[in-house]
Amino acid sequence: MAGCCGHNAQFDGVSADYKRRLWLVIAINAAMFGVEMSAGQMSGSQALKADALDFLGDALTYGISLAVIGATLRTRSLAAMGKGISLLLMGVWVFGSTVYSVFYVGVPQAQIMGSIGFMALAANLASVMILARYKDGDANVRSVWLCSRNDAIGNVAVMIAALGVWGTATGWPDLIVAGIMAGLFLNSAFQILVQAIREQKSEAAHAH
Ligand SMILES: [Zn+2]
Repeated sequence: MAGCCGHNAQFDGVSADYKRRLWLVIAINAAMFGVEMSAGQMSGSQALKADALDFLGDALTYGISLAVIGATLRTRSLAAMGKGISLLLMGVWVFGSTVYSVFYVGVPQAQIMGSIGFMALAANLASVMILARYKDGDANVRSVWLCSRNDAIGNVAVMIAALGVWGTATGWPDLIVAGIMAGLFLNSAFQILVQAIREQKSEAAHAH
């Protein structure tokens, strides 16, 4: 579900094969963020935008975690801070535009919602399959795997919202699903930021 995924994934000492697979998953997540966010904009679906946030969060989480392997604690916590700030800004924007839409409810295009939601589900299932070989590995590896699986629940929620929009010919199912997902996301983005700030502080304290 939105923002469920490991905040502090660390991949020190993973095999070259696992690293390659992670990069592939990062590429899929980054691409799907772009696809789902622009489809959300075009179709007027807030649920698609909210679901897109999770792809961004996952791409940043795994991308940064892989990029800072072997880096200093300071670099790691700065990267975490940057991630927290960008996720929070995106989350505030999606949540805000969802609240705004409550007062100007339009009817999003259910067909686009349904098909992009399905595409997102396929992307997450592909990620699960790419990482499946490692699912019994250490806790970190397992959390990546579980996270992709849980994200599939969010994709199904988007498809249910599409069905609801189609059935009721209103935008409400879209807004309800989007509100829940964006709220969950905002909450976890906030937690990431709080933790990053805490890490910065304790790092600064150790330096003196
Ligand atoms: Zn996720």
